[in-house]
Amino acid sequence: MAFDVAALRQDFPILGRSVHGRPLTYLDNAATSQKPQVVIQALTDYYTQGNANVHRGVHLLSEEATQAFERSREVVARFLGLKESRGCVFVRGATEGINLVAETWGRTHLRAGDEILLTALEHHANIVPWQVAAERSGAKVVVVPVTPRGEVDLEAYRRLLSPRTKLVAFAHVSNALGTVNPAAEMTRLAKAVGATVLIDGCQAAAHFRVELPALGCDFYAFSGHKTFGPTGIGVLWGRPEILDALPPYQFGGDMIRKVDFDGTTFREAPERFEAGTPDIAGAIGLAVALEYFMTRQADAHAHEQKLLAAATERLLAIKGLRLVGEAPEKVAVISFLIEGGHPHDIGTLLDADGIAIRTGHHCCMPLMKHLGIPGTARASFAFYNTLEEVDRLAVSLEKIRKMMA
Ligand code: PLP
Repeated sequence: MAFDVAALRQDFPILGRSVHGRPLTYLDNAATSQKPQVVIQALTDYYTQGNANVHRGVHLLSEEATQAFERSREVVARFLGLKESRGCVFVRGATEGINLVAETWGRTHLRAGDEILLTALEHHANIVPWQVAAERSGAKVVVVPVTPRGEVDLEAYRRLLSPRTKLVAFAHVSNALGTVNPAAEMTRLAKAVGATVLIDGCQAAAHFRVELPALGCDFYAFSGHKTFGPTGIGVLWGRPEILDALPPYQFGGDMIRKVDFDGTTFREAPERFEAGTPDIAGAIGLAVALEYFMTRQADAHAHEQKLLAAATERLLAIKGLRLVGEAPEKVAVISFLIEGGHPHDIGTLLDADGIAIRTGHHCCMPLMKHLGIPGTARASFAFYNTLEEVDRLAVSLEKIRKMMA
């Protein structure tokens, strides 16, 4: 199937709307992606025809809902290149997935003197849970620096890894800069010192094929809303044997084997970590989104790389514009600054032209401090963006640059 971006855009109703009288140019995909009609329809269908609580129901609707929910787990497993779905835990999103690991794995494995190795480009969601786990256990957070181009300093990473390193947690892709980290290599090095590895896959999952067996990590988290699915649903994958040995995260229905006032026993993964009624519609919508994306993934990536190359060239031609993050391996995310202009003003002026970008620290305050800047303006692309939109962005920025000069 040829990659026809104009036809594909028809699948995303919101892309047809206008903003401030201009056609919407949505370049805030790293914050959240738009949803194809098939996902919106799946949510409507579920609530109009299929709504019932999952598991243990003996009536048809409950059986159907359970089947659809569990089928969604199978789709997630396929999306991650896994043969079995048991390690796929439905959570609210990457944030909850990382918190789950920091709380349960952190509580049982971290001791005083242990080190948790993070990189300077992490999202707050992959920093703060570890800071709290470190405070509680007496472990220490150690940070791998980032080079001026926005890459993890691999020399420093090698140096900082030691037998004290109990956990390494890093982003597969930086949300602020677009850098693709060498995740398999970083995992291999961490494993060589016996560390457990968590990868925050939030920004990777929407851009290229993720093959967990090839990465070799122990935990991987991503959010549905960044991968063309609904908000409120995400996935934490963990090695089943590690998950089964962890204490539960929350307690209640569905995660128990037997409850007695004399004591309670818990189920294995994934149910062990899915206390209470899950986001059934969310899981079903996510599966539809992932299936939609999977059929277009290879072409989508090539198309996005074209957008990245074109946007980089056009933006670099603007006087006084500086790119922040110039790693050779990037997804289509461009962070930049314009001399004399505050990122928030750039964002507001672009909005007047119907162009949605994000400005500020991008939930990466330590990275901004590390780079010596308060924040950036960030245009982040998805596979439904077009070269015409790159042009609109460049033309608008040129106008803004003149206003700011
Ligand atoms: N990690 C990264 C790299 C992100 O970009 C984000 C969101 O921007 C998160 C984690 C948190 O994701 P969520 O808010 O969906 O839990």
